[in-house]
Amino acid sequence: RIVLGIETSCDETGAGLVRLEPDGSVRLLADAVASSVDEHARFGGVVPEIASRAHLEAMEPTVRRALDEAGIGLADVDAVAVTAGPGLAGALMVGVSAAKAYAAALGVPLYGVNHLLGHVAVDTLENGPLPRHCLALLVSGGHTQLLSVSGVAEEVTEIGSTIDDAAGEAYDKVARILELPYPGGPPIDKAAREGDPEAIAFPRGLTGPRDPKFDFSFSGLKTAVARWVEQARDAGRQLPIADIAASFQEAVADVLTDKAVRAATELGLDTLVLSGGVAANSRLSALAGQRCAEAGITLRVPRPRLCTDNGAMIAAVGAHVMATGVEPSSLGISADPGMPVSTVVAY
Ligand code: ATP
Ligand code: MG
Ligand code: FE
Repeated sequence: RIVLGIETSCDETGAGLVRLEPDGSVRLLADAVASSVDEHARFGGVVPEIASRAHLEAMEPTVRRALDEAGIGLADVDAVAVTAGPGLAGALMVGVSAAKAYAAALGVPLYGVNHLLGHVAVDTLENGPLPRHCLALLVSGGHTQLLSVSGVAEEVTEIGSTIDDAAGEAYDKVARILELPYPGGPPIDKAAREGDPEAIAFPRGLTGPRDPKFDFSFSGLKTAVARWVEQARDAGRQLPIADIAASFQEAVADVLTDKAVRAATELGLDTLVLSGGVAANSRLSALAGQRCAEAGITLRVPRPRLCTDNGAMIAAVGAHVMATGVEPSSLGISADPGMPVSTVVAY
């Protein structure tokens, strides 16, 4: 059975197609993404109104592109999955409305699913079925969470999260301080390759003995970078961009991987899935690989393109819930901007 997945929670319009095989495995057929990121770049962040209009314009052509890529027609689609939340209200509404229209017109079930679980479930398209129980480190533009995940998306419990900025948000803010383009992850990742990660000792938030064990904090790190840069500028020194980027990136990767490995060990989980846009970071996956190997944990990371927002990840959740016989959503569902991670399907 073929599932069409539609994603519009932020600034990417995604349409993906997957096939649910008789043995329960899920295979990627197509992944088409249109991004309005360039239209937001000069504002240094996503402008909701611009994103909604861009989704509306890109929706139909992006679905068409996915169908062409898979070499199938709309009539071959057996179910429609869409991001019901969390995300920007107006942006989500465009995707949910479109998905309802496709489901109604095709006479197939609709699944309004959780975007965050999509970031985790997408890994199964690349690396095969997940073990019954695993730990996911979800690091994106809006979220930084450690999740205990059972049965891909049957039961998800948050065991830790950021108390201030998300990891991706920290990347974007630090890029702005360094006058690098938005979104900040890729240019910092690139600049860091030429730098020394030990050049500047930036703080590791919430890693003291009395701090919460599995929560994160990145706003102090961002402020430390801002202060360092300001002092260097005041002193008329040339900014060592590569060293700052490498040192900042090391601090983020250090804290994320340290806490994830500790959580997996403590909860007795032998698989860690990295997910979300920041999982595309080269240093994060390298350090996670090293520390997981030392701790005897299997690390799974989807390829960078599948880490950032796309429709295939939503189709993957749809296929998994369909496989487990979960009731479809009604055509009356609404977008839920604050959808909690414990909610898999919206009703
Ligand atoms: P959410 O999923 O929480 O709703 P989002 O959809 O905006 O947020 P994603 O698309 O998953 O988030 O990720 C975008 C974020 O990932 C941005 O903050 C971007 O800077 C960051 N990012 C992308 N590539 C990299 C990279 N190579 N290194 C670090 N960060 C990166
Ligand atoms: Mg995005
Ligand atoms: Fe996302």
